Amino acid sequence: MSGEHYDIIIIGSGPGGGSMAWKLAKAGKRILLLERGDYLPRSRANWNSKTVFVDAAYQAKETWYGRDGREFHPGLHYFVGGNSKVYGAALFRLRTEDFGEIRHVDGVSPAWPLGYDAFEPYYNEAERLFHVHGQRGEDPTEPPSSAPFPYPPVSHEPRVAALAETFRGEGLHPFHLPLGILLDEKDGKATPTSICIRCDTFDGYPCLLNGKADAQVVCVDPALAAHPNLTLLTNAYVSKLETDASGRSVSGVHVERAGNAEQYSADIVVVACGALSSALLLLRSASDQHPHGLANGSGQVGRNYMRHNQSVLMALLREPNETVFQKTLAVSDFYLRSDDWEFPLGLIQMLAKSHTDQIRGESLPEWLSWLPDMPFEKMALHSLGFWLSSEDLPRPENRVFYEDGRVVLDLTENNMEAHHRLKRKLEHL
Ligand SMILES: Cc1cc2nc3c(=O)[nH]c(=O)nc-3n(C[C@H](O)[C@H](O)[C@H](O)COP(=O)(O)OP(=O)(O)OC[C@H]3O[C@@H](n4cnc5c(N)ncnc54)[C@H](O)[C@@H]3O)c2cc1C
Repeated sequence: MSGEHYDIIIIGSGPGGGSMAWKLAKAGKRILLLERGDYLPRSRANWNSKTVFVDAAYQAKETWYGRDGREFHPGLHYFVGGNSKVYGAALFRLRTEDFGEIRHVDGVSPAWPLGYDAFEPYYNEAERLFHVHGQRGEDPTEPPSSAPFPYPPVSHEPRVAALAETFRGEGLHPFHLPLGILLDEKDGKATPTSICIRCDTFDGYPCLLNGKADAQVVCVDPALAAHPNLTLLTNAYVSKLETDASGRSVSGVHVERAGNAEQYSADIVVVACGALSSALLLLRSASDQHPHGLANGSGQVGRNYMRHNQSVLMALLREPNETVFQKTLAVSDFYLRSDDWEFPLGLIQMLAKSHTDQIRGESLPEWLSWLPDMPFEKMALHSLGFWLSSEDLPRPENRVFYEDGRVVLDLTENNMEAHHRLKRKLEHL
């Protein structure tokens, strides 16, 4: 098999590479999809919060370094389907404003060369592919769309519906979170034939039932089943891209698989390894013609790394929170500005219900350490969790690169005032 030539090679089977394989396979071209990971093993452990959040069993095991030499494991997941195997499947369109220049308190987020209109038809297609459930017309910041959501919104359980009312009473516009999920519902319950059962292990967990619309479930597996012209190689780590004598086109894709070195070629090679790993592959592919890495004449490869400023805010209720599937609501009223600040703050969305081990695995406020026994179980039962996400800004010095063969991620957070203000808004609600 090594040495074979294809029409197209796609490197990486996450949402980027997976959906490209799904779309192109229909064209009948011979396609090779290379994935460094394997299929994520299905087992009861998929739904065990200790396995997922404390042991981080599905997270990449490799060691990367901070600028200060601090070791860490990157929050990446090398599987067929990529990071979407564990993602929260909150599938938003970018807003019209996101494509223009946006002024933040710490600087300017530059305009895209293309506007929202150019992407609109593809959003429709992506929402169909990823089974997005939602309700148009509720989210005050939503961009125009030429089609309704392909599936109805995921319904709120009573505690979340009550929270939506409270938010409305505060003058906000809570809306149903757009979710990529293989769910059929009737009267707020999963139907007997629904793949998703509306359980409490969604956000951050792999789905044992394949009820989450991840790239393996909705892109790679259906494309493989329908199109024999698509070949998937797992455990196939692409170590380097080689260029021809002109230095202008990729002539060889070097792969390490089962301890063997293999090489493939194609008319078109697509790098879809995710933001960090794609940059690392291009940097590893340095040669005499491209001493600073492939496609890196600008010196920008690996730079301007952005990851959002994000945090979890957990409210503890007096009464137990009986919600099972909690991730159904979001608030975007502070996404672009607020009544007391001209800059964007960010987005608030519900988090799936927290589990005891998950809370144990988190860093908790200092005052809790005064308690003789941390009441994790009680906290989990009474918790109402929110996920807050604010924009960070592109900075060339925030970058991933190789140093003495080690991966270094140099990252200094910025635009944090927006995030702190968003937190305070939620705390005061
Ligand atoms: C816990 C978590 C929750 C998230 N929640 C959300 C959410 O709710 N909504 C949302 O929109 N986004 C969410 N995200 C982000 C989302 O998952 C990513 O934006 C998305 O997966 C990126 O897709 P991708 O195809 O670019 O990259 P990835 O998903 O990273 O896929 C890249 C693939 O390439 C493979 N690969 C890497 N290097 C090589 C190599 N050298 N050779 C071969 N293969 C390689 C990897 O194994 C991987 O399978 C979340 C992410 C995480 C980790």
